[in-house]
Amino acid sequence: MLKIGVTGGIGSGKTTVCKIFEVLDIPVYYADPRAKLLMIEDSKLVKEIKKLLGDKSYNKDKSLNRKYIANIIFNDKNKLNALNALVHPAVKNDFDKWCDSQNSPYVLKEAALLFENGSYKSLDKTILVSAPLELRVLRVMKRDNHTRESILSRVRNQMPESEKEKLANIIIKNDNDISLISQIIEIHRQLVKDSNAKIH
Ligand code: ATP
Repeated sequence: MLKIGVTGGIGSGKTTVCKIFEVLDIPVYYADPRAKLLMIEDSKLVKEIKKLLGDKSYNKDKSLNRKYIANIIFNDKNKLNALNALVHPAVKNDFDKWCDSQNSPYVLKEAALLFENGSYKSLDKTILVSAPLELRVLRVMKRDNHTRESILSRVRNQMPESEKEKLANIIIKNDNDISLISQIIEIHRQLVKDSNAKIH
């Protein structure tokens, strides 16, 4: 079974693209919400996070103390890297287990960060969802009610689009000019073919 990564900048349309693949019956692993769940439910990870950031990382009801954690990691890059180094292996492990229970020519792993943390290396191929910055900003402003400046500051923290384009195997343009659905159907056909070629 082929493992394909789907990534892209803020508001590029990663989730929208994955929902269309789901309509084609392709299983999708959404890494970011899954990571948030593992940070609460994976007891080994919980212990490691408490050791790294302190017991205050969790509220009394065992939920994440997001404000406390955000305050530490946004002010200390080493702590942010250390937290990522704990969460990423846990997500990789969870993804591998999830893959074992899937029965499909290929599966998708949707993640905001694939290139930045090297996790793309353990995947067969990567799809980059790409859209012009202005369109992405407008879409996120509409979706989340965030200000232009807060979105742009998150964009500035991400790997530049040109770097991601160099690393991606497949690019989906989500800019209103080319039909998203027809691009996805074409990629789906090719991936099913690739998967058959890998088996035989
Ligand atoms: P994030 O990085 O913030 O998680 P994302 O890359 O997953 O975002 P989506 O949530 O899929 O992006 O899309 C951002 C917003 O733009 C959503 O409200 C979505 O409905 C809208 N959108 C995405 N693609 C299109 C499109 N082709 N036409 C119209 N709206 C779109």
